[in-house]
Amino acid sequence: EKQEWAKLKNSATVSLDGEHVELAANIGTPNDVQGVLNNGGEGVGLYRTEFLYMGREQLPTEEEQFVAYKTVLENMQGKPVVVRTLDIGGDKELPYLHFPKEMNPFLGYRAIRLCLDQQEIFRTQLRALLRASTYGHLKIMFPMIATLEEFLEAKSILLEEKELLVSQGEEVSSTIEVGMMVEIPATAIMADQFAKEVDFFSIGTNDLIQYTMAVDRMNEQVAYLYQPYHPAILRLVKMVVDAAHKEGKWVGMCGEMAGDQTAIPILLAMGLDEFSMSASSILPARSLISKLNKKELEDLIPTLLSFKSGAEVESYIKSIVLNND
Ligand code: PEP
Ligand code: MG
Repeated sequence: EKQEWAKLKNSATVSLDGEHVELAANIGTPNDVQGVLNNGGEGVGLYRTEFLYMGREQLPTEEEQFVAYKTVLENMQGKPVVVRTLDIGGDKELPYLHFPKEMNPFLGYRAIRLCLDQQEIFRTQLRALLRASTYGHLKIMFPMIATLEEFLEAKSILLEEKELLVSQGEEVSSTIEVGMMVEIPATAIMADQFAKEVDFFSIGTNDLIQYTMAVDRMNEQVAYLYQPYHPAILRLVKMVVDAAHKEGKWVGMCGEMAGDQTAIPILLAMGLDEFSMSASSILPARSLISKLNKKELEDLIPTLLSFKSGAEVESYIKSIVLNND
């Protein structure tokens, strides 16, 4: 197995019937890039920038951020890097901002909500990203988008900062794609509307499952309800993929589900374009996909979506597709 993976390290990700997908990695710091390349990652599908803001006493400066983003972009050698803007709140707190304690932090003041309200924090990050954009292949993604207005406002702030920098003589890439996470059920349901405005989607199943099943993703006592294969989740994922493709946009997934061997055949069949996962899952995923026939799997989708439970989906995939129950 190890030998097969070594061979796959420098090859494209292709199914048995010749369909290409992209396997990217999730990273938290510039130090993670080496692991992405060592594991044959075709890009970074999610750079969680909040770690730049955590474990310290004050906000990172524009310059500190610029250095981090430039380092990641340069070290990825022209491969695509999707940088997610600050997704703080929920389980990730910044004590130095002194925001009031909330009853429901996962439903509260976090991510894009905070950024659109505390615009200096947001604009500083956007300037750092724009200035770094000429050092590689940057794509920018906004987290926790619930409404179209939020996406449009975030994008217009980005464009404002870009014009400002250009007017000051700074060099900024003119080909930056701007996309968003789909991790709120309302957003998945309205994906057809969002798809007209974005360059891409990335489905965040960690939160999408939490919000769809109303189950705290950190709470062990209700973890039995955290069901990635539940048909409710699969139906939402399919809606998002179909909506993106109808508008000619690409769609990825950066939640844990994207690297899950049982989920991969389903996601491949649905037409997911990019799978972003922890670096160590990339070669096993590439190996699995090389043995799957996408066209044949497509025929299973109506059956999967008609099941009554995640358990039925899981046992069906494991016995029919993966032959290992
Ligand atoms: C997600 O919600 O699926 C996701 C990738 O973001 P995070 O795990 O950082 O919330
Ligand atoms: Mg999330």
